[in-house]
Amino acid sequence: MNIVTLGTEVLRRKAEEVTDFGAGTVKLAADMLETLRGAKGLGLAAPQVGVSRRLFIVTIPDEPPLVFVNPEVLELSPETGKYEEGCLSLPGIYADVTRPLALRVRAWDGREKPFTMDAEGLLARVILHEMDHLDGIMFIDRLTELKRKRIMKVWEDKFRA
Ligand code: ZN
Repeated sequence: MNIVTLGTEVLRRKAEEVTDFGAGTVKLAADMLETLRGAKGLGLAAPQVGVSRRLFIVTIPDEPPLVFVNPEVLELSPETGKYEEGCLSLPGIYADVTRPLALRVRAWDGREKPFTMDAEGLLARVILHEMDHLDGIMFIDRLTELKRKRIMKVWEDKFRA
């Protein structure tokens, strides 16, 4: 699948709930997993492959891949932390983003089985980054305006080059 980059409208749209857990959703998750592995990323949300649906996948090294369908954050830790993030839809751009360090999330897996998960560390960070994609939010939106402007300039220069 083709990964779309900043400037593509679907990345800024609020994605719709998945209502059909049939073969189409199973195939979407499988195709996204292959795409993510090829791109060497940690997470990929459906809007990033042009599909405005509430589904994302996470692949943390040495862990089995996880599929989240219609995810809902139930709890966020009050403790936050800064960590450098990148995004397959913003290739070459990295910045420190502040986010809660732990969370509890409820979702369905790719085969219509509900689950609740407590996550912390890298996993929590990737989940929150991907959750944002389902609401049309990019990680640069979580930076200060000054930082975001600086990054947007780098991004635009890259396009012009
Ligand atoms: Zn991203």
